[in-house]
Amino acid sequence: MNDPLCFCNSGRTFELCCKPYIHNVSCPETPEQLMRSRFSAYATKNFQYILDTYTITQRKNLTLQVLSQGGDDSHWLRLDVLDTFTDNRTQAGEVEFVAYYRQNNVIYQMHERSKFFREEDQWRYDSGVLFEDGGVYKPQRNDSCLCGSGKKFKKCCI
Ligand SMILES: [Zn+2]
Ligand SMILES: [Zn+2]
Repeated sequence: MNDPLCFCNSGRTFELCCKPYIHNVSCPETPEQLMRSRFSAYATKNFQYILDTYTITQRKNLTLQVLSQGGDDSHWLRLDVLDTFTDNRTQAGEVEFVAYYRQNNVIYQMHERSKFFREEDQWRYDSGVLFEDGGVYKPQRNDSCLCGSGKKFKKCCI
């Protein structure tokens, strides 16, 4: 039996990658692991996990309803982590990534540098700065799909 690969594009199975975090079996040990698990939580529409992994300050301004309204019609296709940085002294970290998602049959790419802080012994997401090269993503006709299925785009996620 082949276990499905993780949504976060790590090349590992979901079971051994982001699932234990999302199901609160273990805690991410680095900002990158937290970032990846939050992506997988968006992909599986686990908005409670998204909410719980915001910093305390940010969480005050958020509700499950707000998060799910923004995320319910997005289909997350792929994550590429470009850079990651952890400062163990200040308990802060950063992750730069590109994420691809489909909304109403249009594919978008989102390029962000996120800030993470460690509080209550856990890494939490605080905020992110978007790069200007995000926006509508136009795959070439015969490109293989971003989701990694190996199929052509037009026969897969579009
Ligand atoms: Zn993962
Ligand atoms: Zn696909």
